[in-house]
Amino acid sequence: MLSITPNAEKLIESAARTSYKSFNKQGEGTEKVLIRKLIKLGHLSVLEHAYATFRISGVSRALTHQLVRHRLCSYTQRSQRYVDESGFGYVEPESIKSNPEAHALFTELMNKAKRVYSKLEKLGVRREDARFVLPNATETEIVVTANFREWRHIIELRGDPSAQWEIREMAIEILRILKKYAPTVFEDLEIDEENRAVRKR
Ligand SMILES: Cc1cc2nc3c(=O)[nH]c(=O)nc-3n(C[C@H](O)[C@H](O)[C@H](O)COP(=O)(O)OP(=O)(O)OC[C@H]3O[C@@H](n4cnc5c(N)ncnc54)[C@H](O)[C@@H]3O)c2cc1C
Repeated sequence: MLSITPNAEKLIESAARTSYKSFNKQGEGTEKVLIRKLIKLGHLSVLEHAYATFRISGVSRALTHQLVRHRLCSYTQRSQRYVDESGFGYVEPESIKSNPEAHALFTELMNKAKRVYSKLEKLGVRREDARFVLPNATETEIVVTANFREWRHIIELRGDPSAQWEIREMAIEILRILKKYAPTVFEDLEIDEENRAVRKR
């Protein structure tokens, strides 16, 4: 995590109390009771006052392609137009890694992609074109900023058992961190460690 709104839950309480003009009710722990109530009522727009920013690295382009479909976030991603990808790292799914024949085929293709990419560069092809041979598995890095309402939405969708494993792992790790800083906002989203998924209570 790169950044998070300081005292996020107190800020959410302060914003919410504007609706009811009930500032006099603020005290120790009052934000928890109020936030639980807001979430139960579906009064989620107040959660938009708090933000968190993450740097997500060591993930595949397959993951970031799914992530950037979330339109309410702000993104900055490593550019394949400007950065040399001749020695690119890649993510290998467990289903491939654990199968010797599949693993051999996969590795062969990754090495071939590296060779072709480097050869294209040597032939004077620009990086923005050489990148066309890079696979979905190519490792990348992305910085994402979203408000708490949107993080809840992303975590719910992408942490669901039906979501793809890599983005599900990302959702779990982000939830783990957010729970430390805003435990009440993310309280009803629980990590199912055994099944590597997020369940909504
Ligand atoms: C399991 C799974 C499988 C998927 N499979 C596919 C697939 O096969 N093909 C594919 O193309 N996509 C697929 N997606 C992506 C999916 O269709 C969404 O694009 C993605 O999950 C972003 O969700 P969103 O639009 O709810 O979220 P966000 O863009 O994060 O928006 C959050 C919420 O804001 C509101 N909102 C945002 N923009 C608008 C708008 N323009 N109008 C009205 N309300 C808006 C909606 O309530 C939305 O839920 C899949 C997603 C999941 C989780």
